[in-house]
Amino acid sequence: MSKFSYVSHLECPKCDEKYREDQIHHLCNCGSPLLVRYDLEKVKKNVSRDDISNRKNSLWRYHELLPVHSEENVISLGEGITPFEKLNTLGAEYGLNNLYIKDEGIIPTGSFKTRGASVGVSKASELGVKQLAMPTNGNAGAAWALYASKANIKATIVMPLDAPEITRKEVYIAGGDLHLINGLISDAGKVVGQLVQNEGVYDASTLKEPYRIEGKKTMGYEIIEQFGWNVPDVILYPTGGGVGIIGIYKAIVELQELGWIEKGKFPRLVAVQAEGCAPIVEAWKKGQKESVFFENSKTCAFGINVPKALGDFLVLESIYTTKGCAIAVSEKELLEAQKQVASLEGNFICPEGAATFAAARKLREQGWIQADEHVVCLNTGLGVKYPETVEIEGVQTLQPGDKIYVNN
Ligand SMILES: *Cc1c(COP(=O)(O)O)cnc(C)c1O
Ligand SMILES: [Zn+2]
Repeated sequence: MSKFSYVSHLECPKCDEKYREDQIHHLCNCGSPLLVRYDLEKVKKNVSRDDISNRKNSLWRYHELLPVHSEENVISLGEGITPFEKLNTLGAEYGLNNLYIKDEGIIPTGSFKTRGASVGVSKASELGVKQLAMPTNGNAGAAWALYASKANIKATIVMPLDAPEITRKEVYIAGGDLHLINGLISDAGKVVGQLVQNEGVYDASTLKEPYRIEGKKTMGYEIIEQFGWNVPDVILYPTGGGVGIIGIYKAIVELQELGWIEKGKFPRLVAVQAEGCAPIVEAWKKGQKESVFFENSKTCAFGINVPKALGDFLVLESIYTTKGCAIAVSEKELLEAQKQVASLEGNFICPEGAATFAAARKLREQGWIQADEHVVCLNTGLGVKYPETVEIEGVQTLQPGDKIYVNN
């Protein structure tokens, strides 16, 4: 009989140590994050890519390749299969004839963090977790608090004071245990680390549990499926902790091993960062395998303000293997791109997503991307969650009875 999931075990990408997936594990004994492995031979025998395409619109259509054994444990709000659209007007502006957006604004909680929350919380629930904790720059905490409430798991969330205010309110209304910290996400991480150590709470920090990445990898499956089971030339991803880019790479490797796409053909993966927080870019420029803590980091693209990522070596590996690159954009460039996407394409995207468009433009100008290549920019969230990125100028308030004229 066909199974709901073909998850087999957890594996360390650094030292190859294996762990059981039916017990709670966080990091490997060597300190590396763990990756989830599947029995892909059996998946291949029991399901085809066409079977999957005929299922309902949710990331759970890929359930054989996700870590949850029992459908009853799935915590879902119908997330996934987000829009994949060609942007002709903006493409013409940038000199790109095949520019696409993968739009993660159109998803419950308004950011792609929902994918990690749906899969991560579902697996935590299956493992019997009753209480979890995590540091966050906002969106992940919001998504995890909301999904945890549906799973009847208590969530302790610690975020910087200046994280987008709406994300605080999402945690609060979900009934999460919200804490604000006058510091960075790395400081929040230390507070959570102590709670985990002292009280044995389930540590849901980025890459300290292996399942969030499994949710995020579904972005990779979807891009390939929506592109007709083909591989685009370039995918640009706004990189903070890097879980999304690691996940997309993992997804493509899995699809190749399943024989559902051509073996060895990768999109060039681009890690996009803000100039105010660019540890991966610095490391890539020097050809290094790991990054160095980026001091005094600052950017309005809050989701990518991560000065040192636990999975930096995996991010860099995915860039090197796919012959991609890492690039930083300025605050001015990303805000300009945000405005262009809204005014030319009618889509109010988040500043992190906007950074990928600014980067696509620069890479086209530098000749790193060719005019006819198929280029996918990842918009990781809804612009509506970041009202403070837009400054309105020159708008006057009318009095009742005032007349207005069309402004030419
Ligand atoms: C968290 C976040 C990112 C960065 O995601 P990673 O996969 O951790 O690199 C990008 N954009 C938004 C909107 C985010 O919330
Ligand atoms: Zn290890």
